[in-house]
Amino acid sequence: MTNLITIERIADHVGQRVTIRGWLYDLTPKGKLLFLRLRDGTGLTQGVAYRPEVGDELFERLAHLGQESSLIVSGTVKANDRAPGVPRGYEIAVEEAEVLQDAVGYPITPKEHGVEFLMDNRHLWLRSSKQWAIMRVRATIKRAIIDFFDSRGFLNIDTPIITPSAAEGTSTLFEVGYFDDKAYLAQTGQLYNEANIMAFGKVYCFGPTFRAEKSKTRRHLAEFWMVEPEIAFCDLEQLMALEEEFVSTVVGRALDERANELAVLERDVTALRNVVAPFPRISYDEAVQRVQAIRDATDDPELKEQLAIEWGDDFGSPHETELTKQFDRPVFVYGYPTAVKAFYMEPWPGRPEVCKSVDLLAPEGYGEIIGGSERMSDPEVLLAAIRRHELPEANYQWYIDLRRYGSVPHSGFGLGLERTVTWVCGIEHIRQTSPFPRTLNRMTP
Ligand code: ATP
Ligand code: MG
Repeated sequence: MTNLITIERIADHVGQRVTIRGWLYDLTPKGKLLFLRLRDGTGLTQGVAYRPEVGDELFERLAHLGQESSLIVSGTVKANDRAPGVPRGYEIAVEEAEVLQDAVGYPITPKEHGVEFLMDNRHLWLRSSKQWAIMRVRATIKRAIIDFFDSRGFLNIDTPIITPSAAEGTSTLFEVGYFDDKAYLAQTGQLYNEANIMAFGKVYCFGPTFRAEKSKTRRHLAEFWMVEPEIAFCDLEQLMALEEEFVSTVVGRALDERANELAVLERDVTALRNVVAPFPRISYDEAVQRVQAIRDATDDPELKEQLAIEWGDDFGSPHETELTKQFDRPVFVYGYPTAVKAFYMEPWPGRPEVCKSVDLLAPEGYGEIIGGSERMSDPEVLLAAIRRHELPEANYQWYIDLRRYGSVPHSGFGLGLERTVTWVCGIEHIRQTSPFPRTLNRMTP
């Protein structure tokens, strides 16, 4: 085999005779020419077989191959502006080909399929160019997240997946058997990270998170990845500064490294280029007023109903969607009512009905991508909150201890990987951002 290359690097090989190994994406015959769209996992390119060049036998063999047949192709790389592909602008003049398997009856054809059919065939659907592009954007975002924290003095530390009790309320916990006892799959690593920062200063965990979300939405998975940084000696203001630097860095990496994939997804990248710090900051109080004003102004009765909100209510998707349409970049909403947030958030000074929480809402209607807060630092205030939430006190003694031995102001947040990928890719539904998504009504394949 001569000069085996990956399609991703095809531009480096113009004029050379190369070999690629992969699969037939589709095939278009045109007289003496055969256009073979070939993919090798790293990209998609066009192989052009010319009958007089390859001979009748090979030409006929190729012309009758089924979609997704596996093959090894050799030929010379040419630059051609009109050649489609990822990257576009290159093709291979086919000289030789070896067919490994002629695939018959591949179920996903270029025609439209329903999403349930595609999800049933997720093991195959992943090969389709948009799904392929999404996974490559996801990998880059994941890498950018790790690089961001690693390069800023955060220690990467792993928090347990099997946990004895709830952090965020019990309604969305997956229960598992634990020998003779019950346990739950982790919804967050935050509480453990609060212990970790008192040992290591700045930490982050990044791993799978489980929530038995019973509602069918475009934004929720039952299993997703969350990155959770936690920082000692950090208040709400400093937390927002970190978040905006973080999100703009991550989006910038995706724009720099995945331009081809974003083009496959037909993503409007001008919207992503606006994602530059600083981001606007509005209080929950102001956000409610803004939503009420949008509600008053709309003529759409259905929207009017969806946007009903009073001070004290949590935002739902329609509220977030309409609010974020007012901004060209992500927006911070801080200072939510204590009653709609988790028990561990620091009360607002002089306004105990409000807590030092902050959500970051993505633009273009994508909604919350980050939830964060300054954490309670006083052991007595914390104990009272645990009691108010009727949480099993004994399980939280270690957590209260953190406030007894060298308590400091501290903050942290959680960013959902799949929510972020959904937004960056500009796609409709979060399920496409996970290779094998787990949702309310699906855990196969
Ligand atoms: P929401 O109100 O949108 O359900 P949340 O407030 O419950 O989210 P947090 O507990 O603040 O979420 O979690 C932090 C981040 O984790 C969210 O901002 C989001 O990016 C992500 N996230 C939360 N739940 C899910 C889920 N079920 N599927 C995918 N991502 C999620
Ligand atoms: Mg939240």
